[in-house]
Amino acid sequence: MSDYHLTKTKYCSGVQCPKMLWMMKNKPEEAVDSMNGAVIENGNIVGRAARNYFGEYTLIQYSEDKAQMVSDTINAMESGAENIAEAGFIYDGLYCAVDILHRNSDGWDIVEVKSSTGVKPIHVDDMSFQYFVLKSAGINVKNVYILYINNQYVRHGELDLKQLFNLENYTEKAIEKQDEIKTRIAELREYIKQSEEPDMEIGTFCEKPYLCSFLDYCRGDLPSSSVFDIARIGKKAYELYNQGIISFQDIINHNIKLTDNQMTQVNSFVDRKPEVINKEEVNKLLESLYYPLYHLDFETFQQAVPEYEGGKPYAQIPFQYSLHIEYEDGRLEHKEFLGKEGEDPRRAIAESLCQDIPKGVCSLAFNMGFEKGRIKELAALFPDLSEHLMDIHDHMQDLMIPFQQKAFYNNDMEGSYSIKHVLPALYPDDPELNYHSLDQVHNGSEASEAFLTMADKSSEEIAKLRENLLKYCGLDTYAMVKVLRKLREAVG
Ligand code: SF4
Repeated sequence: MSDYHLTKTKYCSGVQCPKMLWMMKNKPEEAVDSMNGAVIENGNIVGRAARNYFGEYTLIQYSEDKAQMVSDTINAMESGAENIAEAGFIYDGLYCAVDILHRNSDGWDIVEVKSSTGVKPIHVDDMSFQYFVLKSAGINVKNVYILYINNQYVRHGELDLKQLFNLENYTEKAIEKQDEIKTRIAELREYIKQSEEPDMEIGTFCEKPYLCSFLDYCRGDLPSSSVFDIARIGKKAYELYNQGIISFQDIINHNIKLTDNQMTQVNSFVDRKPEVINKEEVNKLLESLYYPLYHLDFETFQQAVPEYEGGKPYAQIPFQYSLHIEYEDGRLEHKEFLGKEGEDPRRAIAESLCQDIPKGVCSLAFNMGFEKGRIKELAALFPDLSEHLMDIHDHMQDLMIPFQQKAFYNNDMEGSYSIKHVLPALYPDDPELNYHSLDQVHNGSEASEAFLTMADKSSEEIAKLRENLLKYCGLDTYAMVKVLRKLREAVG
């Protein structure tokens, strides 16, 4: 064990599922990394901002050599540092780096920093583990705090760290958990010693609080349509899986009751039914549209630490849109906007929208709640543009509805009504509508990450990323034009 430090992250993995810890030690090559780059970047930004919460700090430089980090921490403590970031401690094969170690009048406070907007049970395990390690290592710990994002904060002027973060005292809870921590550490140490791979039924705990990177491995080979592909099935998928009901055919064979929409998905797959079309429902949407039609799609990013005036943590900030204008004779015109990297895009995008979309025209989005939400926020931010923006907002229709209601469905949509599933299901062999053939940016998360990190890149890289962002977003609205054509064809 001594060559395998149990860190706070590993301990928390073991709390979520002991097998996860066993896999990390014994079969790490089976992990599939699913971390989102923009989420990681936000976490790093929050961590760096929080270090200033109590004033000046000493940062313990990261090292593979944990003993070095511990010795640097002790030096910083002895030389009078008030705040120490990434303070490292070892006790009996346990290691933890405290986000901020804050000097208290007669001891030290542990401060755990989280980029979340609330405190989860796993965070309490995390803090309690740190308390255990530090106390065992002989540190006079007085308090354990958690510092997490206050989602009510609105930035006005300079960043106000005291308002951006909520600071809560969890000392009592950490002390209450000490016996549990000690027992669990002993159990986990025994557990990971097993040479045989442990048997463990999968469950919702594989996704919460964190998505386990061994999920594909533990689920094994699944049929092409399994219970996990059923739309909005949630924890029932795991219950069925653990009973051996895995394929869509198994659902029928065992007479499992699902919602109407879910049964449409299962039956149409099992019976190899052609497209399901409810013409009356599809017509409701088509009759609400009038030309020219403005197909609109936004790309956005989120910042845990708001950079701009009036910004809130994790607000969706639109930085790009694509607009396909479709005329009654089928002619298409394309307009687009992409903010300048490193600059606040909100004013420019709001002005551009007002320029590109006249008042009173019919606009269309796929999942319009998202586009309308962003437009409403821009209207609140820029009163001089509010009337025009709210006019666009009020004349918007939603192309997603027939798919969401399963008024138009085929097997290849795999139960989903996102445009990324609907498009290839309607145009399976059209290379110009294939998101996979795009370069660099293939989905909304990659678009956010690209924009957020673009300012630090070379001018060649920026030019390439901008081109690929434009292609990606342009495909989103071109896809909408094509999807609408299929709807029209379907009702004849
Ligand atoms: S997928 Fe589930 S059972 Fe398998 S290691 Fe991860 S959490 Fe444990």
